[in-house]
Amino acid sequence: MLAYTYIEKGLFELKDKPKPEITYEKDAIVRVTLASICTSDIHIKHGSVPRAVPGITVGHEMVGVVEETGNAVTKVKPGDRVTVNVETFCGECFFCKHGYVNNCTDKNGGWALGCRIDGGQAEYVRVPLADNGLDIIPDSVTDEQALFTGDILSTGFWATRISEISTEDSVLIIGAGPTGLCTLACAALKNPKKIIVCEKDKFRRDFVNRHYPFAVTVTPENISQYVKSNCPNGGADRVIEAAGAEDTFRLAWECARPNAIVTVVALYENPQILPLPEMYGKNLTFKTGGVDGCDCAEILSLIEQGKIDTTPLLTHIFALKDIDEAYKLFEEKRDGVIKVAVKP
Ligand SMILES: [Zn+2]
Ligand SMILES: [Zn+2]
Repeated sequence: MLAYTYIEKGLFELKDKPKPEITYEKDAIVRVTLASICTSDIHIKHGSVPRAVPGITVGHEMVGVVEETGNAVTKVKPGDRVTVNVETFCGECFFCKHGYVNNCTDKNGGWALGCRIDGGQAEYVRVPLADNGLDIIPDSVTDEQALFTGDILSTGFWATRISEISTEDSVLIIGAGPTGLCTLACAALKNPKKIIVCEKDKFRRDFVNRHYPFAVTVTPENISQYVKSNCPNGGADRVIEAAGAEDTFRLAWECARPNAIVTVVALYENPQILPLPEMYGKNLTFKTGGVDGCDCAEILSLIEQGKIDTTPLLTHIFALKDIDEAYKLFEEKRDGVIKVAVKP
């Protein structure tokens, strides 16, 4: 089968590999029907994910059809259409029991697929601990609607949940890339008083204005002044930083009002400075890190009810054989691209 493979720093290649087989009794084999390209794949390509193992098939956000299951799998059966969770988790360790599945202590726990074990930019993928890693897509939900459930939509949903958003809040989301947009779609479910999106790129601001007209878009140059003048207590009540650019962490805490919650889901390439003397007395709460992807069933149900729609984000679909071209377009941010998927 065809599988897009991490060869070495700077090089991914479409290789012919054997079809994966059931290795453990909790495994499932999924025939991939649609797989997306994520910014984290680009990070692997650039060598900035040290855990990524050369030789693995990349791709960690996909949907497909269950082909085969191990003897201990009970939730899914061959023929089921499923989303694949970016995180592998046992469901039994301390962290899993508390919902912190990103920190699962299983040897494949956390982000393994498409990083430490073979992922889904391929015709088939082996999903370990399949009862936790797969969720059945409702009949009325298309592959395109469900595609982002396991990764960026989970991230947006989690970021929104841990930010403890109420209907009284002004919520500032920094960055309108794919994760910022998913966060925006999920934040809207909490009905906050106001949602502000800070984004430097005009195309992306226009995209937000077109598809999520309830949000206000502001440039990074104007955001500090905007929140001072437009949020009742001198800053946003909740800030979610999803950009990960050079100055966006500073922007996040600067735009927060005293006693706000600042949630950082961005993945930075460089260390960030927390200048405590400058923020003394502002009494901020910071929440940071990578998604606990344990809400996929709820997300799928919200998609089914028409409450979350991220299909506008899927701007391009390529055949798997043309995946080099798909990466090039995504990396060069050409042609109005937000998210790209490949179809085996
Ligand atoms: Zn990802
Ligand atoms: Zn666990």
